[in-house]
This record gives sequence, structure tokens and C-alpha cells, in this order.
Amino acid sequence: MTMTYDAFKAQGLSIDMTRGKPAAEQLDLSQALIDDVGRAGFLSRDGIDCRNYGHVLGLPEARELGAQLLGLPATQVVAAGNSSLELMHDALAFAMLHGTVQSGPWGRAGEVAFLCPVPGYDRHFAICEALGIRMIAVPMNDDGPDMERVESLVAADPAIKGIWCTPLYSNPTGAIYSRETVRRLAGMPAAAPDFRLLWDDAYRFHHLTDERYTTPDIVAACAEAGHHDRALVFASTSKVTFGSAGLALFASSPRNVDWWQRCVSVRTIGPDKLNQLRHVHYLRDRAGLERLMDRHRAILQPKFEVLDASLHALLGDVSDVSWTKPKGGYFVSLFTPDGMAKRTVELAAQAGVVLTPAGAAFPYRVDPRDRHLRIAPSCPNTVQIEQAAMAIALSLRRALDEGARQ
Ligand code: PLP
Repeated sequence: MTMTYDAFKAQGLSIDMTRGKPAAEQLDLSQALIDDVGRAGFLSRDGIDCRNYGHVLGLPEARELGAQLLGLPATQVVAAGNSSLELMHDALAFAMLHGTVQSGPWGRAGEVAFLCPVPGYDRHFAICEALGIRMIAVPMNDDGPDMERVESLVAADPAIKGIWCTPLYSNPTGAIYSRETVRRLAGMPAAAPDFRLLWDDAYRFHHLTDERYTTPDIVAACAEAGHHDRALVFASTSKVTFGSAGLALFASSPRNVDWWQRCVSVRTIGPDKLNQLRHVHYLRDRAGLERLMDRHRAILQPKFEVLDASLHALLGDVSDVSWTKPKGGYFVSLFTPDGMAKRTVELAAQAGVVLTPAGAAFPYRVDPRDRHLRIAPSCPNTVQIEQAAMAIALSLRRALDEGARQ
């Protein structure tokens, strides 16, 4: 490599690669949501005045749009506020405080544990930590969690009440759950009768290649296996329209939707139906959303390509270093030799490139092998991505040199 770590640092750059946020250019794609506020008005198709209280499960046409997007009946889809993470938090908080359709409050029944495929999404783990749910890490493979491990743990321990799943283009490895993985998750015997799949379909529409990958309908798969209430599905348009003013969706069995209604009615008199109405006007249907996602892809794909090419050029010759080339989603996982991730992140920060803290993708923020880095290339431009890749490569090489000298 021509550049040295010290020369890189001397440039005094400041690049933030910490979170997978849409770039401003992507947010601009949905500017019509703001510009057309007046045109969308406040009356729904059925004459509901969206300015007023009510419709705790969402505006009927927003639920219908959600149903098209998720491939489920509208009666099983709830249209909510702007954040699916908030709904995941609520689902677990409701289960802890009020119980589920099969059980009393989890929080009063002794220890509650959740399986966490790793590397995984740090905010899933933060919810567990905040609610006092013990996290058990299980390895994540390219086709989903290590099912042998999952099945044996879930069958044996009634304290294990669920597992976090990001079935498509998983955060942060880009894993795509196979049909077989989905079938096994739906059908596996669980010691806890109220075992739940927290099915976070955050990247359902976020393709980076010509192929629009899909995963099987988990609600149907669970019903077929006789576990009607096992899957709680979440999605949102946070990375379709606006990260802080999108439309979040919850979907599940009819009984779980009733349960949701009972619990959520205590918390709110109704969601922001004006935003739901605007989304229905703007996106219209699944085809409308897919057209918009093609435009996102046109912005994102070159960034992922630049990152991959830069890593190849800069780290291709370093043994025990690998990274993912995701077919969708927002992240690349880079694996360093054992014991090098923390130091690499530290050195990169000193050189002006802030990465997600090493360990963030693991329960309690501990990567037992200290080798995983999550790289989020969506927000920076391609020049910054090249610079960030350079910082990562130089920092990792320096960390390896330091290790060799010790
Ligand atoms: N789930 C996953 C896997 C994510 O990566 C993210 C954001 O990065 C979210 C959920 C957040 O979703 P929302 O904006 O709908 O709360």
C-alpha cells in the first residue's frame, strides 16, 4: 500500500460510518410526501377524518397497503407509528408485563431468555438488556441461525421465550434465511409453549442486485406447523421513505392481533393516520414501493461496489480477513483475525473514521473472538467510502503489526 497510517491520519478527515442511515439523496426521493401534504388531505377513502383520534390498529387502507407489502390478510396487519423497533420493544414489554395469548406476564414467571443469532442487530440486544431478558448467543450462518443449536436449546429450556430473526439481508451479515431454516424455525418443538419468533423483516424490499430475494411467509409456515401464534412480524418504510417519519407494520395471527389491540389500546388512542394516509397516496401499492426501491438501489449499489472493490484492493492479501458481499440490506460485516477488531476501530477513530464500536453486534457488546466489524456504507459518498476502506485497512494492518511486535 502506498499510503501509511500516519499519512492518512495527517489528512485530518472526519467520516462517520457508525449507523446504516439513508443518505440525504435517498430521503430526497420521497420529498413528495412533504410537498403533497395538502393534496393528500385528511379524509381517508372511507371518509375517516385522519386528523382525529381512533383506529388504534391503523387506517384501513394503510393496513391494506401493509397487507400487500407483507403478503398477509389486512385483518392480520397493524399499521402503526414511524418505527418498527418501537413495536418490537412494545411486543416484548407487553409480554413481560401482561403476558401473551398463552401465558401470564413473563416478567413474573422467573428468568426469561432469548436466542440472539450473532453477529446481529445491536438494538435488538439493547431491548433485551433493558427489559432484563437474558441473551444467549447462537452462531449465524449464511442461511440463517445455526439450527442444530437453536433446536436443541429451544427444546430443552422453557425459559427461552424467543429468538431474534432478521430473515432477509440480515443486519449486519446480509444472511438470507433458507426455506429449510424458516421451516425448522416454524416447526421446531419448544419447551416454552409461548415461544416467539421476533421476525424483523426490516430489509424485505432492500435489494442490491437484480434478483429480488424473498423468504417464505413465516405466519403461514407457523400456522401449518400448528404453532399459530409463534411469529410476530415487523417491518417499516423507514428506509423506503423517511427514517424518522415512515410507516411501521406489525403482523401476526388473528389472536395475536387481538392481543396487540388489547395491550396497545392502553398506550395510545391511535397512530398518526395523516402520515399513514400520505404514505398510501404516495406509495399506492407494492409496485409503487418497488419502483421507489429501484431508485434507492441505484444510489446504494455503487457504494457497496466501491466498498467491496476497495477492501479487495487493500486487504485482499491479508490472511484470515474476510468480508460479506450482501445481496441487499444496509451493512457489510468484516472479519479480522481474532483479537484485532477493537484495536482496529480505535485506530480508525484516531485517524478520523468512526466505525460502529467493535462488539456492538453481540449481546452485552462482547464479541468473544474480537474480530467483527460492521461497516455501514449508505450515508457517506463514494469518495468517503474509499477513504473509510483505506482507514480500516491501514488500521487493521497497524493492529496486526502491533500484535506481531508483542
Ligand atoms: N431492524 C433492523 C434489522 C434494522 O437494521 C433497523 C435499522 O437499522 C431497524 C429495525 C429499525 O427500524 P425502524 O426504523 O422501523 O424502527
